[in-house]
Amino acid sequence: MRAVKMLGAKKMELREFPRPNAKGDWVVLKVECCAMCGSDLNCFYRPSNDKAFNNNRFIPGHEISGIVEEVDKAERVKVGDRVSVYPFIGCDSCFACKHGLWRDCKDMQVIGFGLHGGHAEYVLVPERNLHKIPDDITFETAALVWDGIGASYGAIKRLNVKGPDIVAVLGCGPIGLGAINNSKFFGARVIAVDPLGDRLDTAKMVGADHLVNPTDANAEREIMSITAGFGPDVCIECSGREPALHQALRIVRHGGRVGLVGELGEVQKVNFSDEIIHRDLTLAGSLCYDFDKMDELIGHIRKGLRVEKILTHTFTLEESEKAWDLFDRGKTGKVIIAP
Ligand SMILES: [Zn+2]
Ligand SMILES: [Zn+2]
Repeated sequence: MRAVKMLGAKKMELREFPRPNAKGDWVVLKVECCAMCGSDLNCFYRPSNDKAFNNNRFIPGHEISGIVEEVDKAERVKVGDRVSVYPFIGCDSCFACKHGLWRDCKDMQVIGFGLHGGHAEYVLVPERNLHKIPDDITFETAALVWDGIGASYGAIKRLNVKGPDIVAVLGCGPIGLGAINNSKFFGARVIAVDPLGDRLDTAKMVGADHLVNPTDANAEREIMSITAGFGPDVCIECSGREPALHQALRIVRHGGRVGLVGELGEVQKVNFSDEIIHRDLTLAGSLCYDFDKMDELIGHIRKGLRVEKILTHTFTLEESEKAWDLFDRGKTGKVIIAP
């Protein structure tokens, strides 16, 4: 089968890999869509001999939807089922796994990071990681649900974003677009904050009510004037950049809520007394959506959560090089590879 091989240092190529075979409760899927993620860029940037990254021996891609192609002893899915893949695989026997906390499993494996992922014609996954998707949900939507929408959804849910809220989303890359989409679905007014004009244009298409470029000298004054001088009720930090983290903590109103969704690679210095305690803030972090909440999200999609709004580009597997190059330039929303 054809699949993406990462060569390191921003190079990749399509190569022939052996097609996997179903074994036990692991089933083979024919990949229909695999969305690209900021975390995939780690595979793209790292040198090919990086031991910490398993020498880039795995096929990337963890946001996958597809059709069951082959089963061995699987009982819950059958050939032809339309499914979405939850990429975190727990050992299924430790305390964490038995309590449904797969992401806390010490032996956790991840599809697309160590295990072969979805930038391929076929992928091998355990049946317990599959969510059957109803016919009215597209493969695109099913691939965008986990991280595209789910990353910010966890924070938005815990922060109880609702109708009267004004939400500032800092960073309007793919994850920020998901935060805008989610916030609009729950009825909030949204201020999109990003230094790139292209990203603000996409944010507007997704539904942002106000666009602010943080490099403008009067950016914070603008945000204050939109919020009658109080500051947004909620800030969702999606850029993963330290200045934006401090800006979120600074501009949110007293007693406001802050969602931390953008991954901050380095250790950040936060003055807890001044920035959080004295301002009575509530914080919520969120990495991605949990397996057992998929039905809830499908319910929201049926009520009008337009997940596909965050998708800006779709490419075939053959066009992968172009897709990675474009995604790396940071001006896209979500990008899907549809083999
Ligand atoms: Zn992802
Ligand atoms: Zn476990």
